Amino acid sequence: MSVSSSTWLSIDLIIKGVIDASSTAEANVEKALRLIDEKKEFNAVIASIPERALARAREIDQNIAAGKKPGRLAGVPFIAKDNFLVFGAATTAASNILRGFDAPYQSSAVEKLEAEGAICVAKANLDAFAHGGSTENSDFGTTLNPHDPTRVPGGSSGGSAASVALGLTPFALGTDTGGSCREPASFSGCIGYKPTYGLISRYGVIAMASSTDVVGLLARNSRETALLLDILAGKDVHDSTIVERAESYMITNSAKSLRVGVIKEFMGSGLNDDVRKAIDIGITKIKAAGNEVVEVSMPSLELALAAYYIIVPAEISSNLSRYDGQRFGFSAPDSGGLEQSYMTSRGVGFGAEAKRRIMIGTYVLSSGYYDAYYKKAAKLRTKIIQEFDEVFKNVDILVGPTAPQTAPKIGEFSDDPLSMYLLDIMTVPVNLAGVPAISVPCGMANNMPVGIQMIAPMHKDKELLEFANSFEG
Ligand code: GLN
Repeated sequence: MSVSSSTWLSIDLIIKGVIDASSTAEANVEKALRLIDEKKEFNAVIASIPERALARAREIDQNIAAGKKPGRLAGVPFIAKDNFLVFGAATTAASNILRGFDAPYQSSAVEKLEAEGAICVAKANLDAFAHGGSTENSDFGTTLNPHDPTRVPGGSSGGSAASVALGLTPFALGTDTGGSCREPASFSGCIGYKPTYGLISRYGVIAMASSTDVVGLLARNSRETALLLDILAGKDVHDSTIVERAESYMITNSAKSLRVGVIKEFMGSGLNDDVRKAIDIGITKIKAAGNEVVEVSMPSLELALAAYYIIVPAEISSNLSRYDGQRFGFSAPDSGGLEQSYMTSRGVGFGAEAKRRIMIGTYVLSSGYYDAYYKKAAKLRTKIIQEFDEVFKNVDILVGPTAPQTAPKIGEFSDDPLSMYLLDIMTVPVNLAGVPAISVPCGMANNMPVGIQMIAPMHKDKELLEFANSFEG
């Protein structure tokens, strides 16, 4: 099974301004809702948004019939990971503590897509609060891998990746704090793109770790990803961390021959042999396209995982303190007193992984341990950033696998958080450095998809997408 590009009107046609009269916005939304229903056993979606989506579709069709200029995504349905605030269905972050929470406003990313006529038809499943790499941490049940339902789709944007791989919608919104768009894309067989930190507004996205969180995309190909980035990138009055955008991100087929560095540390003994074969074939293809390929060494990357699992829980422990049972979501009834109410609401509402991260985070930030853990991890992060800066003086783009293996079986790692964390070893350095990266499908290993990861310097998102596009051919 491959990503079903044929299921949907090509966004390429929409880019060219061709609106297919036989495919109205209403028909698109009806089709997406039908597909979501037909594939519900995969549990990719937590909730559909039928009423609002159909009403918006009819309005768009009426506007087009009245001769108004359609937006660049007029009538294109999409699915948002359930940590985006969206109207029309609850926003839960797949956690019991937010069950039934209705967003008072919409995230900027969703607003920008809607302003171009796109229609959010459903909320995708995820590991609760985006903590995880398999969707097994969801309080709404695991999502199944579209290629093999006995395996996980990856995570935490597993529902978004499975939605695209199943062809439910042409693209889905995800978030990537430590690999959560790239890793599920690699396991499920689609594009997973993580932009430069700060390029897309995080306003209205439930925070995990604010210094590495980015809004990312799950899509069918890099050409469509580039169009989506062109719509999403840049200014937002609600997010002061936004960086300068390029004039355009649209693919112009201007990829030149590049100097490409293969990261030696990612190709070591921890890499599954069949994944290595698939990546080697990908690298041969990159060479054959006229790029110069060299091996590069980045020794600090081996420590990135340890740094990530200190810095990120530290930020999580702070960001999750707002869920106190008083202001948002679940509040334990009759808990007797304020302190008891905090404890019972958080004790019942949060799952095991959120609790684990809150405990690690508060521990590494506490006085006496701050210097020993947090400060060291922060220094290591600076070293990783310097190593990326250094290596990018010599190469234009870095490549390697997205993950050390293909999708694990459901339950394989769920009782072993450390083995689960190891799946992130190749993706987290990118988030610590803030650079852009993409996972592109690169063959199969044991009948499961493999993703090749491409990493570019800060702000070189356009060049990255051009390169990925030329790789896809
Ligand atoms: N799997 C990683 C983690 O559990 C990444 C999560 C993410 O990017 N949201 O932290």
